Amino acid sequence: MTVTEHPFDSDAMDGVRALLRDASSVVILSGAGVSAESGVPTFRGPGGLWRSHRPEELATPGAFRGDPRLVWEWYAWRRERVSECAPNPGHRAVAAWQLARSGVYVVTQNVDGLHERAMLEALGETDGGGAPRPEVLPLELHGSLFRVRCTQCSYRQPHRGPVDASSLSTLPTCPRCASLLRPDVVWFGEALDPRVLSRAFELARRADVCLVVGTSAVVHPAASVPLATLEGGGRIVEVNPDPTPLSESAWVAIRGPSGEVLPALLSSDARGG
Ligand code: NAD
Ligand code: ZN
Repeated sequence: MTVTEHPFDSDAMDGVRALLRDASSVVILSGAGVSAESGVPTFRGPGGLWRSHRPEELATPGAFRGDPRLVWEWYAWRRERVSECAPNPGHRAVAAWQLARSGVYVVTQNVDGLHERAMLEALGETDGGGAPRPEVLPLELHGSLFRVRCTQCSYRQPHRGPVDASSLSTLPTCPRCASLLRPDVVWFGEALDPRVLSRAFELARRADVCLVVGTSAVVHPAASVPLATLEGGGRIVEVNPDPTPLSESAWVAIRGPSGEVLPALLSSDARGG
């Protein structure tokens, strides 16, 4: 393992750039840290507590059954906070790199939708906003704040508009069966979508490199995704200001903020053309 901190070792950075350039398949696994420089409030950091409720009390199926209005009020608040944030240079460097070459997949634990927003912005700049190839859209392991699904049937849709959580009767309902809609996120005590999870592991196993960005690598099964790349004979590169349990398995650990490191690794200037 090589560890490089500010000022980054140029040999280590060149080595990672060459590794990424020559890889035919790369998985970028991201966590809350990639959105830190966008100002997305974390659950526990300043601004993360909401009216003295802990997330563990609100982000559960039981909480929603008991008081769907309160849970929706919390999600409506989180959606508003995240809508005020914008993708940062890290998200943008990833999106531009995905458009510049093939074989780059984003797997994220984040529910903030910022990878997707960065991609839609990048597409808007390059080809007038055409529909993106499915390959360039992030695989969202824990769902999205900006999608809803039905509590009874299989209905699932993007949903970006405001939610009126002032009473039970104003909460969003399913256009198919009229049951309550819920945020399409994975709550405490719920399993991840098995199709999304197996796709993530399959991509990771086939990848030559897993670039792990801004995740504390303690929440499983997401934290095991990079290990599948190792098992498949590929390498891990980590971008995180702090060490994590994954650091010792990394080929190179770059200890810095992703908004700075990702453009330095992925931008066309950094790639030399
Ligand atoms: P985490 O909070 O456990 O870890 C964040 C990691 O990011 C830490 O290791 C930290 O050192 C690193 N970090 C901080 N600033 C960084 C920066 N500028 N650049 C790069 N790295 C930086 O996050 P996690 O591993 O994603 O797990 C937390 C869980 O909480 C996940 O399940 C996730 O779904 C959820 N969550 C999501 C969001 C979001 O959508 N933005 C926010 C908070 C929590
Ligand atoms: Zn329904």
